[in-house]
Amino acid sequence: MQELFAELIRQIGEDPQRPGLLDTPSRAASAFQYLTKGYHQSLEEVVNGALFPSDASEMIIVKDIELFSMCEHHLLPFIGKAHVGYIPSGMVLGLSKVARIVDMYARRLQIQEQLTHQIATTIQEVTGAVGVGVIIEAKHLCMMMRGVEKQNSLMKTSAMLGNFRSNTATRTEFLSLLR
Ligand code: ZN
Repeated sequence: MQELFAELIRQIGEDPQRPGLLDTPSRAASAFQYLTKGYHQSLEEVVNGALFPSDASEMIIVKDIELFSMCEHHLLPFIGKAHVGYIPSGMVLGLSKVARIVDMYARRLQIQEQLTHQIATTIQEVTGAVGVGVIIEAKHLCMMMRGVEKQNSLMKTSAMLGNFRSNTATRTEFLSLLR
């Protein structure tokens, strides 16, 4: 990856040998590796057994999970927040694990709609929840720094599964608890 970054620097008309850029290919390579480390994580190691029996049947919400991802169309970041809700059916997930699941999928090349959906189906699969709702709001640097240059546009996506999809009251409760 270092050679590719050196070549990229050359291709934009810069000199990878000038002092300020000497270590840039190696730094950029390790940064890029970090930002895509989700490819090397598995769900088992992320959840790591933090699944607990519970007779709770009320909605559980983890709100404002910081989210950093990379748009797969431009390799530029999109940054925002994820909100996850689910209604358990016998099993609850350790709180920090919800955030770690968000991270595992965010640290890959993504489009926001797919990321939202992957998080929702994973929470559903891992917990066997009666319903899951995921909302992501994010700003995309590919829109802010180039193209339409819309600085303030926030993209919102949602994925609703189980009774979050079929039951309007459940969905409304979720949305009102996020406000
Ligand atoms: Zn993009």
